[in-house]
Amino acid sequence: RPQPIAAFNRIGEENAFAVLARAAALAAQGRDIINLGIGQPDFATPEHIVEAAIKALRDGHHGYTPSVGIEPLRLAVAADVHRRFAVEIDPGRVVIVPGGKVTMFSAILMLGEPGAEILYPDPGFPIYRSMIEFTGATPVPVPIREANGFAFSAEETLSLITPATRLLILNSPANPTGGVTPKAEIDKLVAGLAEHPQVVILSDEIYDQFLFDGEAHTTLLAYPEIRDRLILLNGWSKTYAMTGWRLGWSLWPEGLYDPMRKLAVNAWSCVNAPAQFAALAALTGPQDCVGAMLAEFERRRRIVVEGLNALPGISCATPRGAFYAFPNVAGTGWKSAKKLASALLDETGVATIGGPDFGVHGEGYIRLSYANSAENILRALERMGRFLNERP
Ligand code: PLP
Repeated sequence: RPQPIAAFNRIGEENAFAVLARAAALAAQGRDIINLGIGQPDFATPEHIVEAAIKALRDGHHGYTPSVGIEPLRLAVAADVHRRFAVEIDPGRVVIVPGGKVTMFSAILMLGEPGAEILYPDPGFPIYRSMIEFTGATPVPVPIREANGFAFSAEETLSLITPATRLLILNSPANPTGGVTPKAEIDKLVAGLAEHPQVVILSDEIYDQFLFDGEAHTTLLAYPEIRDRLILLNGWSKTYAMTGWRLGWSLWPEGLYDPMRKLAVNAWSCVNAPAQFAALAALTGPQDCVGAMLAEFERRRRIVVEGLNALPGISCATPRGAFYAFPNVAGTGWKSAKKLASALLDETGVATIGGPDFGVHGEGYIRLSYANSAENILRALERMGRFLNERP
């Protein structure tokens, strides 16, 4: 029996996919499952974007494209960044990738090795830690605390940096907490990073349009003092409801751009051509579809937060971004949030994810994705209420 190298024993998973599979298996047995587990918009990709992909296929875009992506798309990414943040980026440093995940995978692979320390948010997207461990680098969790509004604390983050720190991963708005790190805190963090010039920053801004109450996104692109060591992760998956298209973009600093280009040549050649034309239509076409989806997310956010706070033993801070609620379930009497999440699925058919799947600081919480209809969210809350009243 062939065996992979030892590094593969250290690679993790994203439990959301396991929950998705379990939920599908239960649904196949005839159970009525409400999936609040997976983090993907429940909307269809807007029609004009789908049409652009179909047109690209009809127009004969069937071959390889440049590994870094088609030129008009890289230009459109730079124009979109300028439109939204009044910041200039060099389209010659933009790489179109098959999903936001590929940027984090590549960045961590490029900078992680035994002896190197990589800071990442905990609770945070599980792939950060998994990939850090894969490379043999030392994962250093940055605690993300409810008491701090689920934001990064500049002071605590900076205190964890050592001469061995190679990479700092930031994520705001954040998965799984919905936390948004305030601009003042990012200002402080960036100022402090001046003393640690060896640290590269990977800013995962995949939820950069998912902010509520009229709040503006603070992009790390707005800080020229760290631009020469910033990797920016973004993409289309969440904003344009395109998770299955496998598309993303990233910006790389000098020194890391060419290795990234070569990795693309070696590993995936290019992102599939029609998807790139769809991405181009997403950026250059009407943006009202984004606003309509966001308005619906904002409406559901209110329903889910109010509903959760009415449940026994649960308290839920209002998330300021993304499309997740991260309620504190410590008061339910369940010692293990993972056990609570799996009991909820098995006994009530409501799929959620246990907080510990996002890191050790996730204990005592569960994650609900409100990328589901308001009607289903209300049904899920009612089932959870009945369950918690009967099984405190
Ligand atoms: N970054 C964060 C924080 C995410 O939550 C996700 C997806 O859930 C991604 C990146 C990856 O997105 P993609 O589907 O484009 O790979």
